[in-house]
Amino acid sequence: MFFVRFSGCPLRCSWCDEPRHRDPAAVRSLTTAEILAAWQAIAPTIPCILLTGGEPLAAPGLAELVAAFKMAGAWVAMETSGIGGEAPDGVDWITLSPKTALPESCYARADEIKYVLPADPDPILLAEIDERSRRHPRVWVQPRALEAIPDPAAVAFCYRLVLASGGRLRLSLQTHKWIGVP
Ligand code: SF4
Repeated sequence: MFFVRFSGCPLRCSWCDEPRHRDPAAVRSLTTAEILAAWQAIAPTIPCILLTGGEPLAAPGLAELVAAFKMAGAWVAMETSGIGGEAPDGVDWITLSPKTALPESCYARADEIKYVLPADPDPILLAEIDERSRRHPRVWVQPRALEAIPDPAAVAFCYRLVLASGGRLRLSLQTHKWIGVP
């Protein structure tokens, strides 16, 4: 996939594992045309685009960018916390990673739901995950990260949770972190 990582997010999760999105030195301001040109220069044979962040739904010009990628023949996925409004038309796959209360419409549009968990999640959140996994075919749990790699205690908790779910939950381990891809 070709990643487009937006800066900024209305939320301030203390455990956010993508702090670069708030670092002015790591942020560049690009037009839609410049983003598409970068895609063609860096990864012209890769048709899959992932819009992530930060929070893509909070980015100005998102609908224009999605439309431009679609016109160019790309398959467009987006990872979002659901904060910032409705996803624009044309997004082919939405990974919803809820961090706060959201309207049901966000869940209805999600192709998959991913919960990022510490080693000792709130029982209310666990009940919500259980309930969601009975209504949605793709619900993931992902251990929170400590620095560069996931917290081993959170990994163990998520692993046990997935086993106990009888196949309703899936385990996301952010493999790229384990193998050192930034
Ligand atoms: S919603 Fe995601 S990007 Fe925003 S602060 Fe939380 S973890 Fe970071």
